[in-house]
Amino acid sequence: LVDAAVRYRPGGPLAIDGVSLDLPSGRRIALVGRTGAGKSTVAAVLLRFRDLSGGSATLGGHELASYDADDVRTVIGGYPQDPHLFDTTIGENLRIARPGASDDELAAVAARVGLADWIAALPMGWGTPVGPLGRAVSGGQRQRIALARALLADPAVLILDEPTAHLDIESRQLMTADLLAATAGRATLLITHDLSGLSQVDEVIVLERGIVAERGTHQQLLSAGRGYWQMWQAQAGTT
Ligand code: ATP
Ligand code: MG
Repeated sequence: LVDAAVRYRPGGPLAIDGVSLDLPSGRRIALVGRTGAGKSTVAAVLLRFRDLSGGSATLGGHELASYDADDVRTVIGGYPQDPHLFDTTIGENLRIARPGASDDELAAVAARVGLADWIAALPMGWGTPVGPLGRAVSGGQRQRIALARALLADPAVLILDEPTAHLDIESRQLMTADLLAATAGRATLLITHDLSGLSQVDEVIVLERGIVAERGTHQQLLSAGRGYWQMWQAQAGTT
């Protein structure tokens, strides 16, 4: 993205304004900021759910808008805020991402997202139904199933919008640690409110009211002692 701008209605305010970011192979960026800052809007542009009002979005040197949205989503994958589980089994929810996936592939991805022991202990294992909207599994399990599905699809660029939402602090930190391990080496945009673990990403971007307020490594932003540092202090008080 270069100077990306989005407004949701003509004449309305810009939800993001002048956002630039680059996700070459292997680079991981964390996007943080208050609610309403424009984080999900950035994800929506990358996944081609929204077109730009200004600036440009390119994929492999070509305008993102020149590709078919479905084609874009085979390269740029991941999931939106509050991912959807289908009312079927755990195994089928993963195979939606890759219909021909073998049992070994499912087992490998389950291990990467920390689901293997839980699934092995279930009486029905992979055949366990997740219920309507995934309500028969916990919020953390739902998030991990969605992450496993996103990894199984094996996109070049992975977008994760608040994969730790609705979890308690301890589960959030575990989930963040697991997903950072599972996304190592893959171009990843991690949208999150959890600052723990972000020393592992290449760049942190802080959005404020649609504008990039700060960017740099976790360490650089802490040293700068500005908004990111304040967010960090606030979170340190809660853990
Ligand atoms: P959160 O942390 O709560 O998920 P966010 O940083 O993801 O917030 P966005 O969802 O990108 O924020 O929203 C940015 C701005 O755009 C907000 O002011 C929001 O009200 C507005 N907005 C988001 N989606 C729409 C929409 N579909 N129609 C109109 N305005 C929208
Ligand atoms: Mg959001």
